[in-house]
Amino acid sequence: MGGGIVGLATAHALERLRPDLRIALLEKEPAVGRHQTGRNSGVIHAGLYYAPGSLKSELCVNGGPRLRAFCRERGIPMTQTGKIVVATSRDQIPALDELEHRARANGVAFERTGPRGIADREPYAAGVEALWIPFTGAVCFADVARAFAAELVRAGHTVRTEFEVVGAHREDGGTRLLGTSGDVSARMVVNCAGLHVDRVMRLLGGEPDCAILPFRGEYWGLGESAARRVRGHIYPVPDARLPHLGVHFTRAVHGDVELGPNAVWAWGREAYGRFSGNWADALEALRYRGFRELAKTHWRTAVGEQWRSLNKRAAVSSARRLLPDLEPSDLVRWRSGIRAQAVAPNGELIQDFVVHERRGVIDVLNAPSPAATSCLAIGEYIAKKAIAQLD
Ligand SMILES: Cc1cc2nc3c(=O)[nH]c(=O)nc-3n(C[C@H](O)[C@H](O)[C@H](O)COP(=O)(O)OP(=O)(O)OC[C@H]3O[C@@H](n4cnc5c(N)ncnc54)[C@H](O)[C@@H]3O)c2cc1C
Repeated sequence: MGGGIVGLATAHALERLRPDLRIALLEKEPAVGRHQTGRNSGVIHAGLYYAPGSLKSELCVNGGPRLRAFCRERGIPMTQTGKIVVATSRDQIPALDELEHRARANGVAFERTGPRGIADREPYAAGVEALWIPFTGAVCFADVARAFAAELVRAGHTVRTEFEVVGAHREDGGTRLLGTSGDVSARMVVNCAGLHVDRVMRLLGGEPDCAILPFRGEYWGLGESAARRVRGHIYPVPDARLPHLGVHFTRAVHGDVELGPNAVWAWGREAYGRFSGNWADALEALRYRGFRELAKTHWRTAVGEQWRSLNKRAAVSSARRLLPDLEPSDLVRWRSGIRAQAVAPNGELIQDFVVHERRGVIDVLNAPSPAATSCLAIGEYIAKKAIAQLD
């Protein structure tokens, strides 16, 4: 359930591994890929950030090349411009060293370089040292999601949109899912509901040991002349305490250049507008101990992010560390996405992918970035668990 890239890739893998199964993909929106999958940076990550031995590192390093092959075979547009992670001051060197260590441990191709290497790759970027990652590119993940959906339908399976799962009960040999446009019975349910996965897990009789908290990522678009100053992807050295990669410049697959995404608190799980919210979602979050613990630890970062979200000059002054020539007139407010971030009751931001398994149900509790890059590998990982149970 869930027509985002993770649910669709899981259905795709199930279809490949066990063509005899009957698969129904249920999605509450009128089309697939409307939430995280259609509102992200579109970057095919190489896998350098993730803790060696983690699911993220394994599935991203394995999934990236498979995704590129998938796109090539189907004619889905993508790029491979490479990316540069830039340390803008000497005090960021230890964090850059740690990234280099992770890149090496994860088997990610990279080159360590200085100001001259930065100037060769991104002539307008500034920095004291950098990591150059050649195998980074861009794609529209919604295109990939639509390709999965089309292939499922062609293979005789069902993709039901405008089907929101609102209840469930156990029945002989499986689960009956109650939807807004009918009911469906299944021997195995895979819950890939993204921003709502913890709620759906409860509907399915489970008890999540974390909650999904929504963090909005807002983008600025660069005007034509500023866009010409970015060849590929220019990233800062990230804050190791946070799962986000830091506000970066990205050349999207169709050529637009964006700055973002920041990470501000969203007062609703689908509150995409800067001033929008949802009372029920907000109250639920405020009541959650993990939210209050998180706020205690990270309130300074949160205030800074909020300030830069509201104040264009502050956003520009921060981005100028990477691209010194940037002017406020170069930026226009653009679009946003919302990250489904699993947070433990002690306020810990859960970093790795989390796939929870019980009889007849698999819940994908945490699938933040780079789950889109990793989709073919994560889909296969989940599908194998489902098949093991069915067999
Ligand atoms: C701002 C931002 C930038 C990102 N950048 C990148 C990037 O550059 N590279 C990368 O690899 N990853 C990136 N990511 C992460 C990536 O987008 C996600 O990891 C991925 O899209 C997760 O896919 P999903 O299928 O789990 O979730 P979603 O795409 O959110 O899909 C979940 C689906 O479930 C449906 N659903 C929910 N509840 C129900 C219900 N009750 N009944 C039926 N359907 C339901 C929803 O409508 C939705 O379509 C980014 C994410 C964000 C937000």
